[in-house]
Amino acid sequence: MLHLGKLRTVLLALAMLAVTASVAQAATKLHWYGQAAFRIETPSGGVILIDPWLTVPTNPDKESIAKLGRVDYILITHGHGDHVGNAVEIAKKTGALLVTSYGLQYNMKSMLGYPENQATAATGGNVGGTIDLPKAGAKVTIVNAIHASELTPPMIPAPAPGQPSAVTSGNPVGFVLQITDGPTIYHTGDTDVFSDMKLIPEFNKIDLMLACIGGHFTMDPVRAAQAVEWVQPKQVIPMHFGTYPILAGTPAQFKTALDKRGLGARMIEMKPGEDRVF
Ligand SMILES: [Zn+2]
Repeated sequence: MLHLGKLRTVLLALAMLAVTASVAQAATKLHWYGQAAFRIETPSGGVILIDPWLTVPTNPDKESIAKLGRVDYILITHGHGDHVGNAVEIAKKTGALLVTSYGLQYNMKSMLGYPENQATAATGGNVGGTIDLPKAGAKVTIVNAIHASELTPPMIPAPAPGQPSAVTSGNPVGFVLQITDGPTIYHTGDTDVFSDMKLIPEFNKIDLMLACIGGHFTMDPVRAAQAVEWVQPKQVIPMHFGTYPILAGTPAQFKTALDKRGLGARMIEMKPGEDRVF
């Protein structure tokens, strides 16, 4: 018969093991491919890709698509080629469901061949809406971005003479991804800073912001620092820079601009191909 004192010790040890296990399970893994493309592995084992351009020239791993295992959801901020990326190929390979604005979802099905049954109203939404992602233990709120969202050749066939070649496809958006037992991540998409970014922390405390800083098509490092001040994330990772010379903003410039606002310690610099755990 087990002595009561020993039983308490055993129970305590088991409880500590359970706590340790739950802490170990709580990790969320973030992988950056380059440009705006991330893979997020949630504590429940789900896998989410955002703006999956895995063949981005700055990605050091040329086998990234072949190495993909499970992918539950593909989130796409807008219709430009550096964000739609390899989504259709990955969707056919993995069965991933498409989470994006309703208009882009429709055009991706009819013009790019995204599988119909993987892009339904269950995961197509619009700004202000929150979509459940049960297979990944997460939910995502679609938020505004100030940009554009067109499909253009060579993604779509060249148009007949006199016909438009940029097909408008829904609103450009950002995502606030709320991961159960993990961080809340704000992916800005491509955008300028705008004052309604102040609304984001009114609804969700942001642990990690993925902020475009390259300039030319989006906010540059100085304007992105203003965005960080308004969004108030605990940490921020710069993205969407350096892929081409025209995306000239650098993490060093971003750090300087953040330092001027007393926010420099929040920046985490990643290189394409790297992982971080949160
Ligand atoms: Zn872009």
